[in-house]
Amino acid sequence: MQDGGNEMLALLCEEARETALLESIEALLGWDERTYLPPAGGAFRAEQMTYLSGWIHRRRTDPRIGGWLDQLLDSPLAADPHSDSGATIRELNREYRRLVKLPPAFVEELTRASVLGQQAWTEARKNHDFPSFQPFLERIFTLKREQAEQWGYSNEPYDALLDDFEPGAQTAEVAETLESLRAGLAPLVAAIAECGRQAPSELLRRDYPRAAQQAFGEQAAAAIGFDFRRGRLDVTHHPFCSGLGPDDCRITTRFDERHFSSAFFGILHEAGHGMYDQGLRSDQFGLPPGSYISLGIHESQSRLWENLVGRSAAFWQHFFPQAQQHFPEALAGERWEDFWFAVNAVRPSLIRVEADEVTYNLHIIIRFELERAVLSGELTVGDLPQAWNERYRKYLGITPPGDGDGVLQDIHWSAGLVGYFPTYSLGNVFAAQFFRQAEQDLGDLTDRMGRGDFAPLKQWLNQHIHQVGRCYRASELVQHITGQPLSAEPMIQGLRDKLLPLYGLA
Ligand code: ZN
Repeated sequence: MQDGGNEMLALLCEEARETALLESIEALLGWDERTYLPPAGGAFRAEQMTYLSGWIHRRRTDPRIGGWLDQLLDSPLAADPHSDSGATIRELNREYRRLVKLPPAFVEELTRASVLGQQAWTEARKNHDFPSFQPFLERIFTLKREQAEQWGYSNEPYDALLDDFEPGAQTAEVAETLESLRAGLAPLVAAIAECGRQAPSELLRRDYPRAAQQAFGEQAAAAIGFDFRRGRLDVTHHPFCSGLGPDDCRITTRFDERHFSSAFFGILHEAGHGMYDQGLRSDQFGLPPGSYISLGIHESQSRLWENLVGRSAAFWQHFFPQAQQHFPEALAGERWEDFWFAVNAVRPSLIRVEADEVTYNLHIIIRFELERAVLSGELTVGDLPQAWNERYRKYLGITPPGDGDGVLQDIHWSAGLVGYFPTYSLGNVFAAQFFRQAEQDLGDLTDRMGRGDFAPLKQWLNQHIHQVGRCYRASELVQHITGQPLSAEPMIQGLRDKLLPLYGLA
């Protein structure tokens, strides 16, 4: 390479950007499908999206890309792994190699199995009928094991699947972190259950008119830094955030007029995801330095705003008077301290997506242990319902009345998403590590939040996380920012500091 590879890198980047444009069009069709598409438009939309995804796949597996990468990997441009060019070459190479390792017939088979799996799951969940779903799930786990073999792994098949969502993460390390999280949270949950004090949860179950919820939610999202000139909020059944491009980020929510938390904390959560997307470097759109690092880091941004900010005392000192203005009938004459306690209620429950900030992680740990055991052959798919119920008894002290509220409650496995669950709890762990560092760096973070000033925190996240893009792997980023490896300690400590006084235990 006469110019050290610069020309070849430019070709590679142009190709990647063009593919990213197609992906953003696909994402727009997906957003529309989940928000405004008329019911009868589903079949044609599926045709459009299948066409586009086939086109995208052919582009991403174009052998020319492999040729360019082969040469660039040995060039000086790849020497510094944290530079824009180094990260671009490393990450595009990773993506290309993973895609070309899977034979097209296998990809089709996996897609088919997960479409059939989701259909069978929908029926099975409704009827609490695990046996009707079992053969579909067995097929999916068989294919996921094959996929792990095709991708290759260092210690166990789970490594390969986890790596798809959390690049560079090792199962053993994640297991250790989650185990220390469980060991730290279990006594806290038990102490709260036995203390006899109850959060005034009834406050959240009064009349919260939808229009006022939307106005208050948008006001809070804008106040923490979600830019509504470059994004919007719409309504859906299963809320999500979709970053369509540098200046167009779509967040979604759903409203329940008899429950304050579902929309409000959902909006803060999705706004946190959205602010990550809005904070990425526009000049690197479609390239690794302008892309999110991993699902765990993405989730750290949503959980940080939802829980560490949105469930803090400082946040409600500032926002409660505004909430009273939006919901005078529900909240006139109430105290912010009681409302704050209510949004921090901790109680073991059956359903993951409705769980509180603490017990949520026990739901995740159960799923992680089970999917890892099935993949390694320690458990069979047929063992899952019983193993699930045993763990719910052991970790949460409750037993699901039927499999619909137990082993069948999540869509993930039916859709072929194995190795995905731990990224939710990793997000919580990362969030607490980042937040502690931001507190140290900024000094007066709590005071500022109490005055409604969230700009310093947002700028800190922009600078240390969003602008870094994919130039660091998740574990490197944590080390780089905090000087510490991945650790559950800040999260456990933060929850104890907040909850023990609330429950009169400190
Ligand atoms: Zn999320």
